Amino acid sequence: MRNQEVADILYQIADILEIQGEIQWKFLAYRRAARTIENLSENIADVLGKQKLPGVGKAIEEKVGELISTGKLEYFEKIKKAIPPIVIEMTEIEGIGPKTAKLIYDAIKIKSIKDLEKAARSHRIQRIKGIGPKMEKAILKGLSNLKKPKRHLLGVILPIANEIYNELKQVKEVKQISLAGSIRRRRETIRDIDILVTSDKPEKVMQFFTTLDLVKKVVVKGPTKSTVNVRSDIQVDLRVVEDESYGAALQYFTGSKEHNVPLRTMVAQMGYKLNEYGVFLKETDEKVAGKTEDEIYKLFGMVWIPPELREDRGEIEAAQANSLPNLVELTDIRGDLHIHSNYSDGKSSIEDMVETAKKRGYKYIAITDHVGSVKIAGALDETTLQNQISHIRELDQQEKEIRIFAGAEVNINLDGSLDLSEDTLDQLDIVICSLHSKLRMSRKEITNRIINALSNEYLTILGHPTGRLLNKRQPSDIDLIAIFEVAKEHGKILEINAYPSRLDLNDVNSRTANQHGVLLAIDTDAHSSGQLRFMDLGVSVARRGWLERNDILNTLPLEALCKKLRIK
Ligand SMILES: [Zn+2]
Ligand SMILES: [Zn+2]
Repeated sequence: MRNQEVADILYQIADILEIQGEIQWKFLAYRRAARTIENLSENIADVLGKQKLPGVGKAIEEKVGELISTGKLEYFEKIKKAIPPIVIEMTEIEGIGPKTAKLIYDAIKIKSIKDLEKAARSHRIQRIKGIGPKMEKAILKGLSNLKKPKRHLLGVILPIANEIYNELKQVKEVKQISLAGSIRRRRETIRDIDILVTSDKPEKVMQFFTTLDLVKKVVVKGPTKSTVNVRSDIQVDLRVVEDESYGAALQYFTGSKEHNVPLRTMVAQMGYKLNEYGVFLKETDEKVAGKTEDEIYKLFGMVWIPPELREDRGEIEAAQANSLPNLVELTDIRGDLHIHSNYSDGKSSIEDMVETAKKRGYKYIAITDHVGSVKIAGALDETTLQNQISHIRELDQQEKEIRIFAGAEVNINLDGSLDLSEDTLDQLDIVICSLHSKLRMSRKEITNRIINALSNEYLTILGHPTGRLLNKRQPSDIDLIAIFEVAKEHGKILEINAYPSRLDLNDVNSRTANQHGVLLAIDTDAHSSGQLRFMDLGVSVARRGWLERNDILNTLPLEALCKKLRIK
């Protein structure tokens, strides 16, 4: 059982307990344990009972043990029955928490989501005590989102896709294999996983695919195309094509539609026809290419276009002119400058983070825990931060392979000042400044707030600039162009935060920032050593933003970085 699956069940237990009106500490304990487990870098089965897990007490530990060894939890099955299924179903809707679901159910005994929608439309929900018009509106919005097919975060989907890819790659009947579709283009959210292979024995490949351990349900099993579900609701499509058509199929199924439509129009004007089977002469239907993507693009007078760029944002013209960017790669990254340790809300010690960073081949990292008077996310007070700085300096003295910078993630106050004394700021090597409160100020107010912060000499990097959370929170209403101009003027760096739910700045905004001459840093915001791997996601955003190595701060060698940031 995966950590996320265990965590999901603990979250559900917490919700049920909250609905049942259990005392607060009890359901909060389940949520805390769930959070610990989903952030673990090790497999829960390997460490349970052997290692003290913060927030996982004896009782929950036993339940997790039962879950892992039997795949089921009797307690969960029992309490699930005590709650009408519709109440649990309601909590899946954005805008409805367990408490609200219970309020609604107790007031009007709805039986289905349809009933809920009817009640909301006729404004019966807002009359329920403790709800009101604002919440009713949020519920209606949540209901309309429910109808759209769910998009999963790239950071959740990519490891699963890679796991399936690696398993299939081992199969001797599989000749060529690639991810396709939006996941190959590394879009920030993904509807389903597409995989393409070539094989002389497609039935063998399909047999293997549909019986993989991860597979929860086989939706369709065919000779050349099969669809399965993994992890309850993630769809995976596998297609087997012929070697002769592999490039054409890959090009076709990678998309995007926005890229393929103008490409096909252009191709038609040149006298060709392009489809998933190959490139054909329009006149005679003779096949002239299709084996590789490279030969297809070449035939049309272009260089091969990296999948991340295939969005119809100028890549076709650039490929014709042979002026595509030389995209930054994961191996260009030399360090990570936004990392939390267990001093604040992180799960790993500074030493663990350093070890993992060394294994990744990094030459520097910055420890940037939350600090300040706003007591969020285990924020340190200044005295503790002072102790941490000494701790870091000591470690850094002993380290030969990697430089450890002392940093902090500092809140930007409402007026744009920083929530930390100048004395302390002055001692830090890296100061990440972020908005963590009042993200809904007016466009003018919030833009000025950020501009003021960017004018502060101590700010090194503006963290997660727009504050959006994928599938959860819209970005703040900010005049980004104004921000880019000020950042450029003061030589400040903007972040591409690689945390899966953030990816902030996004691809388009990163590109615009770069066009305004702003340097970007790709940081993971890791809260455990395992999360340092999120760097990959940040690099994907940068690539989709047409960025090259020199556009990214943390591709610099240590010495150049210190010079750039004036670190001694
Ligand atoms: Zn933050
Ligand atoms: Zn952070």
